[in-house]
Amino acid sequence: MNVFVTGGAGYIGSHVVRLLIEAGHRVRVYDNLSEGHRAAVPSEVPGRKAQRAGRTRSGAGGLFEGDLMDEARLAEALDGGFDCVMHFAAHCYVGESMENPQKYYRNNVVGSLRLAAAMRKVGVGRIVFSSSAATYGVPREIPIPEDHPQQPINAYGQTKLDFEHALAYYAGAYGLGYATLRYFNAAGAAPDAAIGEDHDPETHLVPVVLQAALGQRQRVEIYGTGYPTPDGTCIRDYVHVCDLAQAHILAMEAIEPGKGLAYNLGNGSGYSVREVIETARRVTGREIPADVAPPRPGDPPELVASSEKITRELGWKPQYPDLDTIVETAWRWHQSHPDGYRD
Ligand code: UDP
Repeated sequence: MNVFVTGGAGYIGSHVVRLLIEAGHRVRVYDNLSEGHRAAVPSEVPGRKAQRAGRTRSGAGGLFEGDLMDEARLAEALDGGFDCVMHFAAHCYVGESMENPQKYYRNNVVGSLRLAAAMRKVGVGRIVFSSSAATYGVPREIPIPEDHPQQPINAYGQTKLDFEHALAYYAGAYGLGYATLRYFNAAGAAPDAAIGEDHDPETHLVPVVLQAALGQRQRVEIYGTGYPTPDGTCIRDYVHVCDLAQAHILAMEAIEPGKGLAYNLGNGSGYSVREVIETARRVTGREIPADVAPPRPGDPPELVASSEKITRELGWKPQYPDLDTIVETAWRWHQSHPDGYRD
């Protein structure tokens, strides 16, 4: 298929692009490179100069630099005979979304609606959307099934839910086919360490802990120890980025016109912040100092997925389900690229 990938130079997007290419799909990446990295896009995705010179494998290839808010640019990039859009471009920090919600509404809601409008304009009828466990809020049951009430407690989760709702109405009114994938905590890196996680500033737990293991930061701050969990710290379900990538391909192939799919993506096992730090100490053999800090606004105490639905319906089977392996692959990336893509 010809696949248009927004945010394809970012952490999760770049792992999906790589898998799409390995599976024989043609890919165009649309990314403003504000958080993504040119070097994260495989060389099989040719640049625009190569396209103009006719040196691409198809008319649908290329890395297009552009912003979701730029409608004209978006329409130009999307006009290439695409079968499907995968939409990763988004801001994704819970803490920041509580301090600067406007940034999140603008990009994650308004930008996504512009993308949906451009898709209608050029006639692209299917989309795989990166949603989040943050749409559930504080869960009533663990593990969380897809039909659990969605009542976000942070602006990030709310913006993801807003676009999920738009997709449902667009499916009914315009025949759009979609799959919304609710990620739990993406972590890890490609096992060959060619690509990995590189945010600036970094706020996600696994890379923060590994930066402390490398001595790039003095200590890890544990955001709150008074949660109603066995050790008082928040529990999350960590899922390998390559397993997420696989789910996108399965979901893309299952989409039908006018219908919506929703799947959780996690491993069904929860680990506390303290357990993640302990795991990283074991995997890296480094000390990793940690201090207790105040809780972060917008954090639910526990998020653990039931991914039974995607396993049953699409045959999704994670290859790297255990936390040690997830942390090991991330560690390989961080050790070989201590300065991320600047190396
Ligand atoms: N966390 C922490 N210290 C950090 C970063 C994160 O204690 O430096 C906690 C955070 O409060 C949450 C968990 O680790 O409970 C996972 O946070 P992350 O930002 O990685 O992902 P999120 O769950 O927010 O998507």
